[in-house]
Amino acid sequence: MAEPIVRFVGIGKTYDGVSRVVDDLHLDIERGEFLTLLGPSGSGKTTTLMMLAGFEAPTAGEILLEGNPVSRLPPHRRQIGMVFQNYALFPHMTVAENIGFPLSVRRVSGAEIERRVQRALAMVQLSDFGGRRPAQLSGGQQQRIAVARALVFEPKLVLMDEPLGALDKQLREQMQLEIRRLHRELCVTMVYVTHDQSEALTMSDRIAVFRHGRIQQIGTPDAIYRRPANAFVARFIGENNRLTGIVALRDGDVCVVRSSGGIELAGVCGEPLAAGARALLSIRPEQITVGGADGLDCALAGTLAETIFLGDHVRLRVAVPGLADIVVKGPAVAVPPEGSAVRLGWKAADCRVFALEED
Ligand code: ADP
Ligand code: MG
Repeated sequence: MAEPIVRFVGIGKTYDGVSRVVDDLHLDIERGEFLTLLGPSGSGKTTTLMMLAGFEAPTAGEILLEGNPVSRLPPHRRQIGMVFQNYALFPHMTVAENIGFPLSVRRVSGAEIERRVQRALAMVQLSDFGGRRPAQLSGGQQQRIAVARALVFEPKLVLMDEPLGALDKQLREQMQLEIRRLHRELCVTMVYVTHDQSEALTMSDRIAVFRHGRIQQIGTPDAIYRRPANAFVARFIGENNRLTGIVALRDGDVCVVRSSGGIELAGVCGEPLAAGARALLSIRPEQITVGGADGLDCALAGTLAETIFLGDHVRLRVAVPGLADIVVKGPAVAVPPEGSAVRLGWKAADCRVFALEED
């Protein structure tokens, strides 16, 4: 396999000498991939990015860039493009001068700068805006200019830290697709930070889920969504029905959990959990079938307590004796009236069992 473009080898960081903000981080970033660092605020994402960029020094471990240790390399010698949440364009420069700045500090000739700036402007679909000042642009346009500036010197590695955080939802979703398109066209390696799980799922080849400075799980969006490694990842990404109980039986990776109401449900478990342990059973709302269907392992009887119509789908809240209410997401067709008796079913393979989170 090709050498990773970046390797974090046992990286640690503490600002105060006590709390480890990044804790024994081992992470390989593959050449050309779109890797997202996803996690709640304070989980160490920005610190990780800053160490890679060279603005913070690790307190343990080594970062390798194309196989070479970077500890003595200042930021400007790392050849990394960066985009931050606050666009940080130079207000006194025109858009073209802003984009050209990384080239002029690299002593690229005037004609070449002009050519590359035009290409970068076209890339972010703002060809006619080179003569404006940043203040004459909307927030979304300013952020596109920041993206163009990060890409103009053709870095192999581009870091983006919550670059779309200040934009409204519609613009954010449009920019997500645009950045993804640029990533594919330019074949750069992208390391992207966000706390927004849907953004991470939309954009990434791989997602690293951070908590307390440690990676909880790293994998494709599909793997992270379908096979979360622990209760934290399951809770942080996507929606879950969470049923707590005690492990009644463990057989290989199948785990049967008994609720306090005495209901037993089976699921897949990847953690070391023995009989008698407290456990969390997690099932996604869209994996539950209402009414009978073949091939379902679990069947529960309940009462439809609430229906919420959302246009393209409905959300049902079903009261099940002996369990917490269960939320079901399904097609908005043939929904029985509230108060009806309903049967719920799912496959044990879609159901995950986790150790209860310690907080
Ligand atoms: P994230 O980007 O995931 O929100 P950060 O890397 O910014 O997380 O922060 C991780 C932790 O480190 C937080 O508890 C934060 O308060 C602390 N921290 C970040 N930067 C500094 C700093 N320059 N000095 C002291 N503590 C910091
Ligand atoms: Mg941050």
